Amino acid sequence: MATILSGKELSARITENLTDEIKNFNKKPSLAVILVGNDPASELYVGMKQKKSAKLGINSSIIKFDENTDEKTLLAKIQELNLDNSVDAILVQLPLPKQINKKKVFETILPTKDVDGFTPENVGRLTLGLSPYAIACTPKGILTMLNNYNIKIDGKNVVIIGRSDIVGKPMAQLMLNENATVTVCHSHTKNLPQLTKNADILISAVGKPKMVTKDMIKENAVVIDVGVSKIDGKIVGDVDFEAVSAVASYITPCVGGVGPMTIASLMQNTFELFKLHSN
Ligand code: NAP
Repeated sequence: MATILSGKELSARITENLTDEIKNFNKKPSLAVILVGNDPASELYVGMKQKKSAKLGINSSIIKFDENTDEKTLLAKIQELNLDNSVDAILVQLPLPKQINKKKVFETILPTKDVDGFTPENVGRLTLGLSPYAIACTPKGILTMLNNYNIKIDGKNVVIIGRSDIVGKPMAQLMLNENATVTVCHSHTKNLPQLTKNADILISAVGKPKMVTKDMIKENAVVIDVGVSKIDGKIVGDVDFEAVSAVASYITPCVGGVGPMTIASLMQNTFELFKLHSN
């Protein structure tokens, strides 16, 4: 049976240490979160981020915009926050309504306030092996988890399912930087099981319930489930957890796995940007 990679436990330790570190400063880090529209999942995520920030001693503010807000208004707000010295970190909650081009949003956030690591400068820095001001929270959390459980990455075959700007692509780059041999799969990939069968570490970030089945897994592989779907009100991951646990060496649960690590990384990134501005 696979060992469970507990993001819940690890993130609790990380945030406890961060809380102590933050106490050493007279000023508090400040995170501005922009939420456009009333998507219930986004409202839930933003609420969780705010609650966690408060627990750590981070000042977080939520700036809410109507679903019909135009791109110009949103970009003007970001520019205002870029210039506001009391703000260390800016997060624009995704997804955005269709009238707003998220790439324009990424281009507008100041790289030194880009807590999600989505701006062209931070993506470029990650790709070039220069220190980004922040690394995308979910991939960063996964790397922290693998390191913490002493899972070797150097020389391993890492297969990532999904190529989004926020998970798949930065994950692939991080793994490449760690000297893994990386394969990135997506909806046009042929013979997916043949590729995943070769993975020492398999990371699935798709959002299709239980699409990763036991027969797709190499014996003793490490399996990381990023996917979040809801079936009959219950959260379900991309991985068929019960069956895959029987062949994998390590596995993340779909609740208490990658999710808490994403939030822990967000807190770490906010603190790093705060320190940058405190210098
Ligand atoms: P996304 O932008 O929708 O990307 C999904 C990716 O999956 C795309 O690259 C897509 O390929 C690929 N894909 C779709 N069907 C496929 C198939 N049958 N075979 C192989 N690849 C397929 O999603 P995302 O933002 O990266 O998020 C992915 C999942 O992770 C979602 O469930 C999301 O809720 C979850 N998530 C969780 C956390 C967390 O902290 N736990 C954080 C972020 C996201 P194409 O590029 O060809 O369309």
